[in-house]
Parts: sequence; structure tokens; C-alpha cells
Amino acid sequence: MILIIKQEFDQLEVDNLINELVEYSIPHNLVHAYGKTLIHSEASYKDKILALNQSSIIERLVPSGSEYIFASRAFKPEQTIIDVKGIGIGDPNYVNIIAGPCSVENENQLLLTANELRRHNIKFIRGGAHKPRTSPYSFQGLGTKGLQIIREIADDNDLRIITEVIDTTLIDEVCKYADVLQVGSRNMQNYYFLKELAKTDKPILLKRGMYSKVEEWLLAAEYILSSGNAKVILCERGIRTFDNLLRNTMDIAAIPLVKSLSHLPVIADPSHGTGMRNLVTPLAGASIAAGADGVMIEVHPNPELALSDGEQSLYLEQLDSFIQHTSAIAAAVNKKLDTSINYKYNLK
Ligand code: PEP
Ligand code: MN
Repeated sequence: MILIIKQEFDQLEVDNLINELVEYSIPHNLVHAYGKTLIHSEASYKDKILALNQSSIIERLVPSGSEYIFASRAFKPEQTIIDVKGIGIGDPNYVNIIAGPCSVENENQLLLTANELRRHNIKFIRGGAHKPRTSPYSFQGLGTKGLQIIREIADDNDLRIITEVIDTTLIDEVCKYADVLQVGSRNMQNYYFLKELAKTDKPILLKRGMYSKVEEWLLAAEYILSSGNAKVILCERGIRTFDNLLRNTMDIAAIPLVKSLSHLPVIADPSHGTGMRNLVTPLAGASIAAGADGVMIEVHPNPELALSDGEQSLYLEQLDSFIQHTSAIAAAVNKKLDTSINYKYNLK
């Protein structure tokens, strides 16, 4: 059971309520986000809580413990926009474009990629330094060296970095280099990890688990929000279905569904969503048409030689037609790509 405290509360009243909960041995947990305060407790204590002297400061009681509250539009009707070094993710006027390799492989690969991103005025670069690979014998990422390479090249080109954290032991290190922390599909339901990540002040891009329902995805976001980090960005990256021709099935319907259920920004990842290079641009367009706040894609200077996900990575030369297509679809839904934001590079 969740007690939502009235917006205009007196801190003293909340303190008194907490004291009463302690005095009557009522188990509880205090949470703040988006300027509101919640108290979790067990449903069996409902009558006891309502009988307390301070119960008048409770705005409402939400009976089920399985609901997401902070993540819901009912709780926060206005769209959440997350500022990443001056560029908003989730701004209803813009579609964010995030591009980069699956894995950071070497300096030259990143230099070639960053040059091309800059040519298109792209603001965000992606690239993993710690890779969650299905086989232990596949390339696992460059680790610290990879983080150093992407940070240096991103700084030279005023790019913001989105990179994955795969384990609690790596949070501090990745935070030194990343602007946005990515939670991979395989980690979406690693709740202890999510709670640890929430202790950082970095925005967190939460990929949908490949076997997860929309509600489970929103509850995973709720773990982060209720643990004190309000900067969650959702990312639809396809789910496993019975189809065996594609790596995943891009759940386009989930995009407008989640946009209606939640105020959090939703980014589409048609690279992992399809696994097939030629489907990335059309599915990026479809995602934008369906209301996605942004698109994250994999690109590589030489996909044939990529150490991971080459078959779903666009050639750098394909970025031209990708930008052309996505900007046309964005215009059809009254948006612009964030690449159109007037922007002065702060080159070294
Ligand atoms: C990735 O972004 O390269 C990645 C590993 O994604 P996912 O967790 O969606 O498989
Ligand atoms: Mn990948």
C-alpha cells in the first residue's frame, strides 16, 4: 500500500506522521520524487494508519503494491524532459538522434564515427565499453580503455555519451565517463542493480527486457524512480517472439502505449529491435510516427569487420538517408530532429 502525501504539506506534519508510524511499529519506507512524497507500508496496516492523528496529510491511499506510481502519467501528467548537457531528451518538439557503434573497438573507429555524427549535427554518441555478450568467447569490450576513448572523442566533438553499465561493481567507473547510463535488456529485472544505479545522479536509459511485459518494464523504471533517481529514459529495443527471421520483434505498439501510461521519455532502438541493417531506417521512421521521443541506432565505419552487431549497423554513408527519412517523418508529426538545433561546436 502506498500513501501519497498532500503536495502542500508541512515538514513537521510529515515528521509527526513518521514518528507515529514508528511509535505504533508500522513498517514503512519514505520516498521522494518529482516534488512529491510517498510512504510505502503494508495493506494490513491501512486502518491503523487512517486512525493516526496525522492521517489528514495523506492525499490518497493506493491499495496495490504492484502498481507503478512515480512512472505513471496519472501521477505526473506533464511530459518529463531530461536535460543532458543542454539538450533535452523527451522534449515534445524534438526527436533525439543517438548513433554510434555497438562496441567501442579502437580510436580510429570512433574518430571516423564522431566526424560523421558531427557532419550531421548529431548530439549523442552511443558505444559500449563493457558488453553483455551471449557467448563468453565473444568480444567483451575494451573496458576502461574504451571509456577513455569515447570520452576523449566525445569531448573533442561536443557529443554526449550513452554507454552501458553491466554490473554494480562498474557503476563508479562508468559514471566518470558517461553522460547517460544504459541499462541493457538483460539487466532490466536486476532490481538490486537498479536500486544501486539510482544512487547516481546520471540519467538512466532503461532498455526493455527482451522477455518483459510493458508493465514489468514500467515497474523496473519505478524501482529507479522510487530509489531517488527521477531521470529515467525508457528504450524499446524489441522483444522475443516466435518469428525466427528477425533477431527481435520491434514492438511499435508499446511506444504509444507507454507514452500514454507514463510521462517518461521513450527512445526506440530499431537496430536491436530488428537485427537487420535494411530495416533500421524504416523502423526508426515507424517509431517516430508512433510517438517515440528519439531513436538510437548502431553505425560503424566498416560493419563487416565490427566486433559486435555488424549486421545491424548502418554504414556511415547511410546516415544521410537515415536523417532524410527520419526528419521527414518527424515533420509529419510536427517535430524536428534535435540535429536541427542550432549548435556551436566547442572544438578543442
Ligand atoms: C546494445 O545496446 O548494444 C545492447 C547490448 O543492447 P540490448 O541490451 O538491448 O541487447
Ligand atoms: Mn549492440
